[in-house]
Amino acid sequence: MDCPNEHGRMELKSMARELPFRGKQVKFRAQHFVCPVCGLEADDLGLAAANQKALSDAYRSTAKLRTGEQIIEGRKKLGWTQKDLARAANVGIASVKRWETGQIQTKAMDDILRRVLAGKSAIPDAYTGNRPLSLARIKLVLERFRALLGRKLLKSPTDKMLYAAKYLWYADMVAFEETGQSMTGATYAALPHGPQLNNYSELVDLIREADEDQADPLTEHEERILGRIAGAFPSDQAVYRAAHEEQAYTSKKNGELIPYTDVECITAL
Ligand SMILES: [Zn+2]
Repeated sequence: MDCPNEHGRMELKSMARELPFRGKQVKFRAQHFVCPVCGLEADDLGLAAANQKALSDAYRSTAKLRTGEQIIEGRKKLGWTQKDLARAANVGIASVKRWETGQIQTKAMDDILRRVLAGKSAIPDAYTGNRPLSLARIKLVLERFRALLGRKLLKSPTDKMLYAAKYLWYADMVAFEETGQSMTGATYAALPHGPQLNNYSELVDLIREADEDQADPLTEHEERILGRIAGAFPSDQAVYRAAHEEQAYTSKKNGELIPYTDVECITAL
């Protein structure tokens, strides 16, 4: 590109920019043609588009949204075409193309992209916490609690999990919030004695007989969550009382299922 002031060829320069954009102060690198004589800056169409994309990606990084590159990388890791990603996220392929080339997705859409690029379904399973029910994992979590608390949670053969279910409920809810997945895939109902495994009377013997070695091992993050819960509720009475006061429980009718999305109003942890 030549300088319009007739100073001959302009030089392509990369420079740091900072400007307010959608309520955030965004830093990015822009490229412009600069005249070495008069300092005039100019863009051609290609540069203007590239600078727009750089601004969009910098904004998305600042706002903790996936950038175009991250969306491309994420779907390539899954071996997906743009069409595959569009189908998984229930959007048109044109949307995927626009996000990858610079258009900014909403926060809600970004949450869906995060889920599908992690191999999950676009719509969260509100009652299992995005994990298939695993009795072996319930047993594994109860065994971890036994080690952490120094006492058994499943006591006599007639124990109906009155307290164990409340520890499990907190573990599943907090894991759902922090990792996007419950620990056990269990579904909980609001019963008169507090949050309880749905169909617990049919499950309790199966849980007792389950082999915890068959379960996916606990992640470090899950271990930390269990440690926090055991620390917060050293006694059966403590977990019983706390669970009874949770709005996620008190707002339900008898027998009503408690969705994992209610973790937003969990207050004891
Ligand atoms: Zn010039």
